[in-house]
Amino acid sequence: MKNLLLGCIADDFTGATDLANNLVRAGMRCIQTIGVPDDGASLQADAIVVALKSRTLPAAEAVSQSIAALNWLQAQDAQQIYFKYCSTFDSTPKGNIGPVTDALLDALHGPDQGFTIACPAFPANQRTVFKGHLFVGDVLLSDSGMRHHPLTPMVDANLVRVMQAQTRRKVGLVTQDVVAAGPQAIRERFAALRREDVCVAVVDAVCNQDLMTIGEALAGMSLVTAGSGIAIGLPQNWPQLRARGPESRADALPPARGWQAVISGSCSIATNAQVLHFKQSGRPSMAVDPLTIAAGEDVVSKVLDWAEPLLPNGPVLIYATTEPTAVQAVQEHLGSERAGALVEEALSRIASGLIARGVRQLLVAGGETSGAVVQTLRVKLMTIGPQIDPGVPWTAVDTPLCSGEPVHIALKSGNFGSSDFFTKAFSQLSAL
Ligand code: ADP
Repeated sequence: MKNLLLGCIADDFTGATDLANNLVRAGMRCIQTIGVPDDGASLQADAIVVALKSRTLPAAEAVSQSIAALNWLQAQDAQQIYFKYCSTFDSTPKGNIGPVTDALLDALHGPDQGFTIACPAFPANQRTVFKGHLFVGDVLLSDSGMRHHPLTPMVDANLVRVMQAQTRRKVGLVTQDVVAAGPQAIRERFAALRREDVCVAVVDAVCNQDLMTIGEALAGMSLVTAGSGIAIGLPQNWPQLRARGPESRADALPPARGWQAVISGSCSIATNAQVLHFKQSGRPSMAVDPLTIAAGEDVVSKVLDWAEPLLPNGPVLIYATTEPTAVQAVQEHLGSERAGALVEEALSRIASGLIARGVRQLLVAGGETSGAVVQTLRVKLMTIGPQIDPGVPWTAVDTPLCSGEPVHIALKSGNFGSSDFFTKAFSQLSAL
């Protein structure tokens, strides 16, 4: 594909979907790739999001994966590059947001050259930046739960300081009063910062209007680094997108066919409520027990034999989801890693068995579970469709397990979705 408008590099899988979802809702046709694709010949999209898993890698590895993604996106003639990180600016004590930003600017503009922004703000999700400080809801990032994150603890909310500790380039600030004064004022501030040799500008944003104003000021900037919020202000910069009529839907997917199934490996409060709601609606469900798998029983065949005759009647649910005390008991027996791996493997094999039996509409609950299922189905590309609930879109994917026929798949990380998510998602799809 050539003439790509926006080429995005996301530092984790669910973050990539979050960004892609925002871009589609703002009017861009969007494809998410799992890792850097081998080629790009048949991709048709305004934006492509390359999903990496680079957030917690050693910096050198994160850099080399990000540069591989950049090279691929440049080969698609991407007009603008977007490096997407978490809206809580998650980074290890040694990076990776700074080192990746440096490497991308080096590649685009030469050593210690170039200019970009850093802005994780997403006010709709309670992430705001004021005077360069990141707030999570009403508290500073450093007073939020992120202080104790197991992999990326964030103990400083001052993004200028955090970023300056990670980058060779000089970091500056565009404050909210400048943002509120409009795109021209922001561009003038960018120019003033550049005269002071600043190459990375942290930008304040406290509301959606700020995101739209900043977006306008970013027209033509070769690299944008941000959370997923800034994305909503970028599509307005391309006249060809503005010229499209309302009938041209960016979230269009091929018609959904085939049987329906839900695979749930998340044990979050929201997912427990969704499983309960599905069962109480009288639909068929079957639990998968990690201890039975560990005992060597062929749980996968048992589930598939149970599901096969039911599929023509409507969605079936296969779940390992359970309450915290039960999870704890299993973990004490098997260890948490082994329990997780056993469940993920069984659920992934069940997913591919269901596809082989004609399922073409699949909901998966759980971040890790989703990663395992997508890997087992050997999915490389996801076309992003309409949003079911905030942050969770339907997508259409190709898998070699049923090549030529799209599978509609929605990946829901733990706490997302209303309690009727498992049933309402399918009715939304049939209404497309
Ligand atoms: P979430 O998005 O809610 O965090 P994940 O899929 O990322 O969900 O993580 C849930 C983890 O718990 C997975 O590794 C899954 O295999 C594991 N798991 C699911 N059910 C059970 C269970 N009954 N006992 C122990 N571990 C489980």
